[in-house]
Amino acid sequence: MGEVATGGAIDLHTHSTASDGTDTPAGLVRAAARAGLDVVALTDHDTTAGWEPAAQAAREVGIRLVRGAELSVSHHGYSVHLLAYLFDPDAAELREHRRAVRSARLDRARRMVGLLAHDFPITWEDVVAQTSEGASVGRPHIADALVAAGVVGHRDDAFASMLAGSSPYYVPHYAMPAADAVRLVREAGGVPVIAHPGAALRGRVLPDAAIAELVPLGLAGLEVDHRDHDAAARRRVRALADRLGILGTGSSDYHGTGKRNLLGENTTDPAVYGELVAQASGVPVV
Ligand code: AMP
Ligand code: FE
Ligand code: FE
Ligand code: ZN
Repeated sequence: MGEVATGGAIDLHTHSTASDGTDTPAGLVRAAARAGLDVVALTDHDTTAGWEPAAQAAREVGIRLVRGAELSVSHHGYSVHLLAYLFDPDAAELREHRRAVRSARLDRARRMVGLLAHDFPITWEDVVAQTSEGASVGRPHIADALVAAGVVGHRDDAFASMLAGSSPYYVPHYAMPAADAVRLVREAGGVPVIAHPGAALRGRVLPDAAIAELVPLGLAGLEVDHRDHDAAARRRVRALADRLGILGTGSSDYHGTGKRNLLGENTTDPAVYGELVAQASGVPVV
């Protein structure tokens, strides 16, 4: 299921059922081992709920696991995803921000379903039925409910229509300020990297100057190689990372069967990975 044979590769961005992926955390780690990855990072949206089962599976199958999260942040009005690696999950202020974002995600999903229910056969219970216990809720769970109800054929169709940012059914949610998030991740011993900064299809792209502002606050890198970056975007983001003197990573953003992204389809250079781990002091690589 959704795997690319790679051999000795490092994939630093994946999602499990702890957020909007379709593999359990342990199942994802086992799939990563089968795909031939050496290192996989689990980066569920705004939660560390998958860390324990993923760590146990990693010890069993002998793959290295980087514990992380993809934090929903905002910067100058832009919605930004901040990958945070190897931070202390008990650092209180950051933990409180994750809790607040998960709570806001839940309220927002309920409001979106309330709007959708006027026009489509979908209830909140349908969405809950598509969501693992305690998961960080997102639009993909609403998409799954719409697929189950026969309204659309695939998650992609829902994202291209009623769940798009421009849709009348779209509702935004609270995100933590990026400057606070970068500082708090560092204070928690973690390493912050901006996810897919050149992904134009997700909306307006964060300007270089706005990214540069976060470097003195502790931003460690930019995700360069990602499915949502075309060749020009990769060149631009890599050049920016070089100019700013920060790391450039690559990863799949695997979501199981929920997206077309395959494990290991983009990977991180071992030297870059080594630098990233050397900067971390929150929790060790499993
Ligand atoms: P949300 O976090 O609730 O705003 O929803 C955005 C999430 O939906 C992102 O994490 C993406 O991974 C996911 N997503 C975006 N487009 C698609 C798509 N076409 N199919 C499946 N998931 C998607
Ligand atoms: Fe996602
Ligand atoms: Fe993302
Ligand atoms: Zn992601």
